Amino acid sequence: MNNDLAYSSRNCWEVYADRQCKMDELAERYMAFLSASKTERETVNNVTQILRAASYSEDFANERVFRHYRGKAIFVARRGRKPLRDGVRLISAHTDAPRLDFKQRPLLEQVGVGQAKTHYYGGIRKYQWLARPLAVHGVIVKEDGTTVAVSLGEHPSDPVFTIADLLPHLAQKEMGKTLSDAFEAEKLNVILGHSPEKKADGAEKKEQTGDADKAKDQVKARMLRLLHERYGVREEDLFSAELQVVPAGPARAVGLDSALIGGYGQDDRVCVYASLAALLDAEAPEHTCCLIYWDKEEIGSEGSTGAQSRFMEYCMRDLVETWEPDAKTRDVFQASKAISADVHAAIDPDWQDLHEKLNSATIGHGPSFSKFTGSRGKYGANDAHPEYIGWLRSVLNQRGIPWQMAELGKVDLGGGGTVALYLAAYGMDTIDMGPAVLSMHSPFELVSKADLYATKLAYQAFFEAASCR
Ligand code: MN
Ligand code: MN
Repeated sequence: MNNDLAYSSRNCWEVYADRQCKMDELAERYMAFLSASKTERETVNNVTQILRAASYSEDFANERVFRHYRGKAIFVARRGRKPLRDGVRLISAHTDAPRLDFKQRPLLEQVGVGQAKTHYYGGIRKYQWLARPLAVHGVIVKEDGTTVAVSLGEHPSDPVFTIADLLPHLAQKEMGKTLSDAFEAEKLNVILGHSPEKKADGAEKKEQTGDADKAKDQVKARMLRLLHERYGVREEDLFSAELQVVPAGPARAVGLDSALIGGYGQDDRVCVYASLAALLDAEAPEHTCCLIYWDKEEIGSEGSTGAQSRFMEYCMRDLVETWEPDAKTRDVFQASKAISADVHAAIDPDWQDLHEKLNSATIGHGPSFSKFTGSRGKYGANDAHPEYIGWLRSVLNQRGIPWQMAELGKVDLGGGGTVALYLAAYGMDTIDMGPAVLSMHSPFELVSKADLYATKLAYQAFFEAASCR
Protein backbone atom coordinates (compact mmCIF):
# COMPACT_ATOMS: atom_id res chain seq x y z
CA MET A 1 0.00 0.00 0.00
CA ASN A 2 1.44 3.34 -1.03
CA ASN A 3 0.12 5.32 1.88
CA ASP A 4 2.12 7.12 4.55
CA LEU A 5 -0.74 6.79 6.99
CA ALA A 6 -1.08 3.03 6.85
CA TYR A 7 0.92 0.65 9.01
CA SER A 8 2.75 -2.35 7.69
CA SER A 9 5.21 -4.64 9.43
CA ARG A 10 8.76 -4.81 8.14
CA ASN A 11 10.90 -7.77 7.16
CA CYS A 12 13.99 -8.01 9.40
CA TRP A 13 15.95 -9.65 6.60
CA GLU A 14 15.60 -6.44 4.61
CA VAL A 15 16.10 -4.11 7.55
CA TYR A 16 19.24 -5.95 8.69
CA ALA A 17 20.51 -6.96 5.22
CA ASP A 18 23.95 -5.56 6.07
CA ARG A 19 24.18 -7.39 9.40
CA GLN A 20 24.27 -11.03 8.28
CA CYS A 21 27.49 -11.65 10.22
CA LYS A 22 26.05 -10.29 13.46
CA MET A 23 22.88 -12.34 13.02
CA ASP A 24 24.90 -15.50 12.36
CA GLU A 25 27.18 -14.87 15.30
CA LEU A 26 24.27 -14.43 17.73
CA ALA A 27 22.48 -17.47 16.27
CA GLU A 28 25.57 -19.61 16.71
CA ARG A 29 25.96 -18.69 20.38
CA TYR A 30 22.26 -19.22 20.94
CA MET A 31 22.24 -22.64 19.26
CA ALA A 32 25.11 -23.82 21.48
CA PHE A 33 23.16 -22.61 24.53
CA LEU A 34 19.92 -24.23 23.33
CA SER A 35 21.61 -27.56 22.56
CA ALA A 36 23.04 -27.65 26.09
CA SER A 37 19.82 -26.50 27.82
CA LYS A 38 17.29 -29.33 27.57
CA THR A 39 15.74 -28.95 31.04
CA GLU A 40 14.92 -26.08 33.37
CA ARG A 41 17.89 -27.02 35.58
CA GLU A 42 20.32 -27.12 32.66
CA THR A 43 18.97 -23.77 31.45
CA VAL A 44 19.48 -22.15 34.86
CA ASN A 45 22.95 -23.72 35.13
CA ASN A 46 24.02 -22.39 31.75
CA VAL A 47 22.60 -18.94 32.51
CA THR A 48 24.56 -18.97 35.78
CA GLN A 49 27.81 -19.81 34.02
CA ILE A 50 27.33 -16.94 31.60
CA LEU A 51 26.52 -14.59 34.51
CA ARG A 52 29.55 -15.64 36.53
CA ALA A 53 31.79 -15.08 33.50
CA ALA A 54 30.34 -11.55 33.37
CA SER A 55 31.20 -10.94 37.08
CA TYR A 56 27.69 -11.43 38.47
CA SER A 57 27.61 -12.82 42.00
CA GLU A 58 25.15 -14.05 44.59
CA ASP A 59 26.07 -11.28 47.02
CA PHE A 60 23.33 -8.65 46.84
CA ALA A 61 25.77 -6.05 48.17
CA ASN A 62 27.30 -6.00 44.69
CA GLU A 63 25.89 -4.16 41.70
CA ARG A 64 25.50 -7.21 39.44
CA VAL A 65 23.73 -9.99 41.25
CA PHE A 66 21.69 -13.16 40.80
CA ARG A 67 19.90 -15.70 42.93
CA HIS A 68 18.52 -19.10 42.00
CA TYR A 69 15.69 -20.95 43.49
CA ARG A 70 15.95 -24.75 43.62
CA GLY A 71 18.12 -24.66 40.52
CA LYS A 72 15.01 -24.10 38.39
CA ALA A 73 14.26 -20.37 38.60
CA ILE A 74 16.69 -17.46 38.66
CA PHE A 75 16.53 -13.73 39.39
CA VAL A 76 19.17 -11.33 38.04
CA ALA A 77 19.70 -7.62 38.71
CA ARG A 78 22.08 -5.05 37.27
CA ARG A 79 22.15 -1.71 39.04
CA GLY A 80 21.20 1.35 37.04
CA ARG A 81 22.03 5.02 37.59
CA LYS A 82 18.61 5.89 38.99
CA PRO A 83 17.36 4.76 42.40
CA LEU A 84 15.21 1.66 42.70
CA ARG A 85 12.24 3.78 43.74
CA ASP A 86 12.11 5.08 40.17
CA GLY A 87 11.31 1.53 39.11
CA VAL A 88 13.19 -1.29 37.45
CA ARG A 89 13.04 -2.67 33.92
CA LEU A 90 12.24 -6.34 34.19
CA ILE A 91 12.13 -9.09 31.58
CA SER A 92 10.73 -12.49 32.48
CA ALA A 93 10.95 -15.73 30.53
CA HIS A 94 10.46 -19.40 31.35
CA THR A 95 12.97 -22.22 31.63
CA ASP A 96 10.63 -25.22 31.26
CA ALA A 97 9.38 -26.79 28.03
CA PRO A 98 6.88 -29.51 27.13
CA ARG A 99 8.31 -33.02 27.44
CA LEU A 100 7.69 -36.52 28.76
CA ASP A 101 8.55 -37.07 32.42
CA PHE A 102 9.41 -40.52 33.76
CA LYS A 103 6.73 -41.70 36.14
CA GLN A 104 7.99 -42.11 39.70
CA ARG A 105 7.91 -45.90 39.27
CA PRO A 106 8.86 -46.08 35.61
CA LEU A 107 10.54 -49.41 34.88
CA LEU A 108 8.55 -52.05 33.09
CA GLU A 109 9.26 -55.15 31.03
CA GLN A 110 6.85 -56.43 28.39
CA VAL A 111 7.49 -59.22 25.85
CA GLY A 112 11.25 -58.89 25.94
CA VAL A 113 11.32 -55.07 25.85
CA GLY A 114 12.39 -52.89 28.78
CA GLN A 115 10.53 -49.57 28.98
CA ALA A 116 10.02 -46.49 31.12
CA LYS A 117 6.49 -45.27 31.68
CA THR A 118 5.98 -41.52 31.27
CA HIS A 119 3.52 -38.77 32.17
CA TYR A 120 3.68 -35.89 29.72
CA TYR A 121 4.38 -32.34 30.92
CA GLY A 122 2.73 -29.36 29.23
CA GLY A 123 0.92 -29.22 25.91
CA ILE A 124 2.22 -31.86 23.53
CA ARG A 125 0.81 -33.50 20.41
CA LYS A 126 1.49 -37.09 21.39
CA TYR A 127 2.21 -38.49 17.92
CA GLN A 128 5.17 -36.10 17.51
CA TRP A 129 7.09 -38.06 20.14
CA LEU A 130 6.89 -41.47 18.47
CA ALA A 131 9.60 -43.16 16.42
CA ARG A 132 12.29 -40.52 16.95
CA PRO A 133 15.58 -40.49 18.88
CA LEU A 134 15.08 -39.33 22.45
CA ALA A 135 17.43 -38.44 25.30
CA VAL A 136 16.94 -38.66 29.06
CA HIS A 137 17.99 -35.71 31.23
CA GLY A 138 17.46 -34.97 34.88
CA VAL A 139 18.47 -35.77 38.42
CA ILE A 140 18.19 -38.71 40.78
CA VAL A 141 18.36 -37.87 44.49
CA LYS A 142 19.57 -40.67 46.74
CA GLU A 143 18.47 -41.31 50.29
CA ASP A 144 21.75 -39.88 51.62
CA GLY A 145 20.96 -36.58 49.88
CA THR A 146 23.43 -36.86 47.03
CA THR A 147 22.12 -35.75 43.65
CA VAL A 148 23.14 -37.60 40.52
CA ALA A 149 22.88 -35.66 37.26
CA VAL A 150 21.70 -37.71 34.29
CA SER A 151 22.25 -36.83 30.63
CA LEU A 152 21.99 -39.75 28.25
CA GLY A 153 21.53 -39.66 24.51
CA GLU A 154 23.30 -36.43 23.54
CA HIS A 155 26.93 -37.44 23.05
CA PRO A 156 27.55 -39.13 19.66
CA SER A 157 28.80 -42.24 21.47
CA ASP A 158 25.70 -42.41 23.74
CA PRO A 159 22.80 -44.68 22.93
CA VAL A 160 19.46 -42.92 22.41
CA PHE A 161 15.95 -43.99 23.42
CA THR A 162 12.68 -44.07 21.52
CA ILE A 163 8.97 -44.79 21.64
CA ALA A 164 7.93 -47.40 19.07
CA ASP A 165 5.01 -46.53 16.79
CA LEU A 166 2.45 -48.88 15.32
CA LEU A 167 3.26 -50.26 11.86
CA PRO A 168 0.79 -49.16 9.14
CA HIS A 169 -0.07 -52.81 8.46
CA LEU A 170 -1.73 -53.06 11.87
CA ALA A 171 -3.02 -49.49 12.05
CA GLN A 172 -6.25 -50.03 10.11
CA LYS A 173 -8.46 -49.50 13.15
CA GLU A 174 -6.33 -46.70 14.53
CA MET A 175 -6.66 -44.75 11.27
CA GLY A 176 -10.40 -44.37 11.82
CA LYS A 177 -10.00 -42.89 15.30
CA THR A 178 -9.81 -39.21 16.20
CA LEU A 179 -6.32 -37.91 17.02
CA SER A 180 -7.09 -37.72 20.72
CA ASP A 181 -8.32 -41.33 20.81
CA ALA A 182 -5.61 -42.75 18.58
CA PHE A 183 -2.67 -41.73 20.76
CA GLU A 184 -2.91 -42.79 24.36
CA ALA A 185 -0.74 -41.29 27.08
CA GLU A 186 -0.27 -44.71 28.69
CA LYS A 187 1.31 -45.96 25.46
CA LEU A 188 4.06 -43.31 25.58
CA ASN A 189 6.51 -45.83 27.01
CA VAL A 190 10.16 -45.18 26.25
CA ILE A 191 12.28 -48.14 25.18
CA LEU A 192 15.26 -48.40 27.51
CA GLY A 193 16.62 -51.87 26.78
CA HIS A 194 16.10 -55.30 25.42
CA SER A 195 18.83 -57.72 26.54
CA PRO A 196 18.30 -59.92 29.61
CA GLU A 197 20.50 -59.90 32.68
CA LYS A 198 23.51 -62.16 32.25
CA LYS A 199 23.00 -65.36 34.15
CA ALA A 200 25.21 -65.83 37.18
CA ASP A 201 26.82 -69.24 37.80
CA GLY A 202 24.20 -71.77 38.81
CA ALA A 203 21.28 -69.57 37.72
CA GLU A 204 20.58 -71.76 34.74
CA LYS A 205 20.34 -74.76 37.02
CA LYS A 206 17.81 -72.94 39.25
CA GLU A 207 15.67 -72.08 36.24
CA GLN A 208 15.60 -75.70 35.19
CA THR A 209 14.51 -76.69 38.66
CA GLY A 210 11.45 -74.47 38.23
CA ASP A 211 12.42 -71.20 39.99
CA ALA A 212 10.21 -69.23 37.56
CA ASP A 213 10.31 -65.87 39.41
CA LYS A 214 14.07 -65.61 39.00
CA ALA A 215 13.68 -65.99 35.23
CA LYS A 216 11.04 -63.24 34.97
CA ASP A 217 11.81 -59.61 34.22
CA GLN A 218 15.41 -60.27 33.32
CA VAL A 219 15.44 -57.26 30.93
CA LYS A 220 14.29 -55.02 33.76
CA ALA A 221 16.93 -56.60 35.97
CA ARG A 222 19.58 -55.69 33.42
CA MET A 223 18.31 -52.10 33.12
CA LEU A 224 18.57 -51.81 36.90
CA ARG A 225 22.06 -53.28 36.87
CA LEU A 226 23.20 -50.82 34.16
CA LEU A 227 21.69 -47.88 36.06
CA HIS A 228 23.43 -49.09 39.20
CA GLU A 229 26.77 -49.43 37.45
CA ARG A 230 26.51 -46.00 35.86
CA TYR A 231 24.86 -43.98 38.63
CA GLY A 232 25.00 -46.13 41.77
CA VAL A 233 21.20 -46.11 42.10
CA ARG A 234 18.54 -48.69 42.96
CA GLU A 235 14.93 -48.82 41.77
CA GLU A 236 13.71 -47.04 44.90
CA ASP A 237 15.97 -44.06 44.12
CA LEU A 238 13.80 -43.33 41.07
CA PHE A 239 10.97 -42.29 43.38
CA SER A 240 13.05 -39.22 44.22
CA ALA A 241 14.10 -38.45 40.67
CA GLU A 242 13.09 -36.02 37.94
CA LEU A 243 13.97 -37.67 34.67
CA GLN A 244 12.81 -35.93 31.53
CA VAL A 245 12.55 -37.44 28.07
CA VAL A 246 13.47 -34.85 25.44
CA PRO A 247 14.41 -34.93 21.75
CA ALA A 248 18.01 -36.11 21.32
CA GLY A 249 20.61 -34.06 19.49
CA PRO A 250 21.63 -30.45 18.98
CA ALA A 251 19.82 -27.50 17.44
CA ARG A 252 20.38 -27.18 13.70
CA ALA A 253 20.23 -24.50 11.02
CA VAL A 254 17.25 -25.10 8.75
CA GLY A 255 16.80 -24.27 5.06
CA LEU A 256 19.05 -23.82 2.01
CA ASP A 257 19.81 -20.37 3.38
CA SER A 258 20.22 -21.58 7.00
CA ALA A 259 17.88 -18.73 7.92
CA LEU A 260 15.90 -20.68 10.51
CA ILE A 261 16.97 -22.27 13.77
CA GLY A 262 15.43 -25.66 14.46
CA GLY A 263 15.55 -27.16 17.93
CA TYR A 264 13.73 -28.33 21.01
CA GLY A 265 12.62 -25.98 23.79
CA GLN A 266 12.86 -22.66 21.95
CA ASP A 267 9.61 -21.83 23.75
CA ASP A 268 10.89 -20.15 25.81
CA ARG A 269 14.66 -20.55 25.87
CA VAL A 270 14.96 -18.23 22.87
CA CYS A 271 13.61 -15.47 25.12
CA VAL A 272 15.88 -16.56 27.97
CA TYR A 273 18.92 -16.24 25.74
CA ALA A 274 17.85 -13.05 23.94
CA SER A 275 17.04 -11.24 27.19
CA LEU A 276 20.23 -12.43 28.88
CA ALA A 277 22.33 -11.22 25.93
CA ALA A 278 20.42 -7.93 26.03
CA LEU A 279 21.10 -7.44 29.75
CA LEU A 280 24.80 -8.15 29.36
CA ASP A 281 25.16 -5.85 26.34
CA ALA A 282 23.01 -2.98 27.66
CA GLU A 283 25.06 0.20 27.86
CA ALA A 284 24.88 2.28 31.03
CA PRO A 285 21.22 1.61 31.78
CA GLU A 286 19.40 4.41 33.55
CA HIS A 287 17.09 2.09 35.48
CA THR A 288 18.09 -1.07 37.27
CA CYS A 289 17.64 -3.99 34.87
CA CYS A 290 16.23 -7.28 36.11
CA LEU A 291 15.62 -10.71 34.67
CA ILE A 292 13.44 -13.39 36.15
CA TYR A 293 13.34 -16.84 34.60
CA TRP A 294 10.54 -19.06 35.88
CA ASP A 295 9.90 -22.76 35.84
CA LYS A 296 6.44 -24.41 35.48
CA GLU A 297 5.01 -21.89 32.99
CA GLU A 298 3.84 -24.73 30.76
CA ILE A 299 1.66 -26.21 33.50
CA GLY A 300 0.12 -23.05 34.94
CA SER A 301 3.01 -21.33 36.76
CA GLU A 302 2.20 -23.15 40.00
CA GLY A 303 4.61 -24.40 42.64
CA SER A 304 7.52 -22.79 44.45
CA THR A 305 9.50 -22.18 41.25
CA GLY A 306 6.60 -20.90 39.12
CA ALA A 307 5.54 -17.32 38.47
CA GLN A 308 2.73 -17.56 41.02
CA SER A 309 5.30 -18.18 43.78
CA ARG A 310 6.77 -15.43 45.99
CA PHE A 311 10.36 -15.90 44.78
CA MET A 312 10.57 -12.70 42.74
CA GLU A 313 8.95 -10.66 45.50
CA TYR A 314 11.42 -11.97 48.09
CA CYS A 315 14.36 -11.18 45.78
CA MET A 316 13.09 -7.67 45.16
CA ARG A 317 12.58 -7.08 48.89
CA ASP A 318 16.14 -8.22 49.62
CA LEU A 319 17.46 -6.02 46.83
CA VAL A 320 15.61 -2.99 48.19
CA GLU A 321 16.78 -3.70 51.75
CA THR A 322 20.39 -3.95 50.60
CA TRP A 323 20.57 -1.20 47.98
CA GLU A 324 18.03 1.31 49.18
CA PRO A 325 16.71 0.49 52.64
CA ASP A 326 14.55 3.61 52.88
CA ALA A 327 12.58 2.68 49.75
CA LYS A 328 9.41 0.60 49.81
CA THR A 329 9.30 -2.54 47.71
CA ARG A 330 5.72 -1.83 46.66
CA ASP A 331 6.75 1.60 45.32
CA VAL A 332 9.57 -0.01 43.36
CA PHE A 333 7.19 -2.52 41.79
CA GLN A 334 4.54 0.04 40.95
CA ALA A 335 7.06 2.30 39.22
CA SER A 336 8.48 -0.62 37.19
CA LYS A 337 8.04 -1.74 33.61
CA ALA A 338 8.02 -5.38 32.59
CA ILE A 339 8.14 -7.48 29.47
CA SER A 340 6.77 -10.97 29.66
CA ALA A 341 9.17 -12.43 27.11
CA ASP A 342 7.51 -15.41 25.53
CA VAL A 343 7.23 -16.75 22.02
CA HIS A 344 4.26 -16.16 19.77
CA ALA A 345 2.70 -18.38 17.10
CA ALA A 346 3.86 -17.43 13.60
CA ILE A 347 1.34 -17.74 10.75
CA ASP A 348 1.79 -21.32 9.58
CA PRO A 349 2.08 -21.35 5.77
CA ASP A 350 -0.03 -24.52 5.61
CA TRP A 351 -2.64 -23.55 8.21
CA GLN A 352 -3.20 -19.92 7.36
CA ASP A 353 -6.95 -20.21 7.83
CA LEU A 354 -6.50 -20.71 11.60
CA HIS A 355 -5.02 -17.23 11.96
CA GLU A 356 -6.76 -13.91 11.64
CA LYS A 357 -4.09 -12.37 9.47
CA LEU A 358 -4.51 -8.69 10.33
CA ASN A 359 -3.65 -9.58 13.92
CA SER A 360 -1.13 -12.37 13.50
CA ALA A 361 2.64 -12.59 13.58
CA THR A 362 4.70 -13.19 10.44
CA ILE A 363 7.97 -15.02 10.92
CA GLY A 364 10.94 -12.76 10.16
CA HIS A 365 9.05 -9.54 10.89
CA GLY A 366 10.50 -8.95 14.34
CA PRO A 367 9.32 -9.54 17.89
CA SER A 368 5.60 -9.59 18.38
CA PHE A 369 3.69 -7.72 21.08
CA SER A 370 0.55 -9.29 22.50
CA LYS A 371 -1.53 -6.65 24.22
CA PHE A 372 -3.48 -9.47 25.82
CA THR A 373 -3.31 -13.23 25.94
CA GLY A 374 -5.99 -15.48 27.39
CA SER A 375 -8.90 -16.88 25.42
CA ARG A 376 -12.62 -16.65 24.67
CA GLY A 377 -13.35 -13.11 25.77
CA LYS A 378 -9.81 -12.41 27.01
CA TYR A 379 -10.26 -14.59 30.10
CA GLY A 380 -6.92 -14.96 31.87
CA ALA A 381 -5.41 -11.92 30.16
CA ASN A 382 -3.18 -9.19 31.50
CA ASP A 383 -4.28 -6.67 28.81
CA ALA A 384 -1.45 -4.12 28.68
CA HIS A 385 -2.31 -0.43 29.10
CA PRO A 386 -2.22 1.55 25.84
CA GLU A 387 -0.04 4.23 27.50
CA TYR A 388 2.64 1.57 27.96
CA ILE A 389 2.32 0.29 24.39
CA GLY A 390 2.66 3.86 23.12
CA TRP A 391 5.92 4.26 25.02
CA LEU A 392 7.30 0.89 23.86
CA ARG A 393 6.49 1.68 20.23
CA SER A 394 8.50 4.88 20.52
CA VAL A 395 11.44 3.01 22.09
CA LEU A 396 11.61 0.51 19.22
CA ASN A 397 10.77 2.98 16.44
CA GLN A 398 13.51 5.37 17.56
CA ARG A 399 16.02 2.59 16.89
CA GLY A 400 14.32 1.31 13.74
CA ILE A 401 13.69 -2.13 15.23
CA PRO A 402 10.91 -4.00 13.40
CA TRP A 403 8.03 -5.17 15.59
CA GLN A 404 4.50 -6.40 15.12
CA MET A 405 1.32 -6.82 17.15
CA ALA A 406 -0.54 -10.10 17.27
CA GLU A 407 -2.98 -12.30 19.08
CA LEU A 408 -2.95 -16.08 19.18
CA GLY A 409 -5.29 -17.43 16.52
CA LYS A 410 -8.87 -16.48 15.71
CA VAL A 411 -11.19 -15.32 18.49
CA ASP A 412 -12.90 -18.34 20.07
CA LEU A 413 -10.57 -20.74 18.22
CA GLY A 414 -7.18 -19.84 19.66
CA GLY A 415 -5.68 -18.49 22.86
CA GLY A 416 -3.13 -19.29 25.48
CA GLY A 417 -1.60 -17.86 28.63
CA THR A 418 1.74 -16.50 29.75
CA VAL A 419 3.13 -15.21 33.06
CA ALA A 420 2.19 -11.59 32.17
CA LEU A 421 -0.76 -11.47 34.58
CA TYR A 422 1.40 -12.58 37.53
CA LEU A 423 3.88 -9.74 36.85
CA ALA A 424 1.10 -7.22 36.37
CA ALA A 425 -0.35 -8.19 39.77
CA TYR A 426 2.50 -6.21 41.38
CA GLY A 427 1.42 -3.07 39.58
CA MET A 428 4.17 -3.15 36.98
CA ASP A 429 3.30 -2.05 33.47
CA THR A 430 3.46 -5.40 31.67
CA ILE A 431 3.17 -6.66 28.10
CA ASP A 432 4.05 -9.87 26.26
CA MET A 433 6.73 -9.60 23.61
CA GLY A 434 8.74 -12.30 21.88
CA PRO A 435 9.64 -13.81 18.52
CA ALA A 436 7.19 -15.78 16.39
CA VAL A 437 7.74 -19.54 16.25
CA LEU A 438 6.64 -22.18 13.77
CA SER A 439 5.83 -25.69 15.03
CA MET A 440 5.53 -24.39 18.60
CA HIS A 441 5.57 -27.06 21.35
CA SER A 442 6.87 -29.64 18.87
CA PRO A 443 10.16 -31.50 19.37
CA PHE A 444 11.66 -29.30 16.63
CA GLU A 445 10.51 -25.71 16.90
CA LEU A 446 11.54 -23.10 14.32
CA VAL A 447 12.71 -19.54 14.98
CA SER A 448 14.03 -17.06 12.41
CA LYS A 449 17.63 -15.94 12.92
CA ALA A 450 16.50 -12.44 11.97
CA ASP A 451 13.81 -12.48 14.65
CA LEU A 452 16.32 -13.67 17.25
CA TYR A 453 18.53 -10.72 16.34
CA ALA A 454 15.70 -8.17 16.33
CA THR A 455 14.29 -9.53 19.59
CA LYS A 456 17.64 -9.21 21.34
CA LEU A 457 17.92 -5.61 20.09
CA ALA A 458 14.36 -4.88 21.23
CA TYR A 459 15.01 -6.18 24.76
CA GLN A 460 18.25 -4.20 24.88
CA ALA A 461 16.43 -1.05 23.74
CA PHE A 462 13.90 -1.60 26.57
CA PHE A 463 16.73 -1.86 29.12
CA GLU A 464 18.57 1.18 27.78
CA ALA A 465 15.58 3.45 27.14
CA ALA A 466 15.27 6.62 29.16
CA SER A 467 12.29 7.25 31.40
CA CYS A 468 8.83 7.89 30.05
CA ARG A 469 7.88 11.14 28.48
MN1 MN B 1 6.12 -19.98 26.44
MN1 MN C 1 4.56 -22.87 25.69
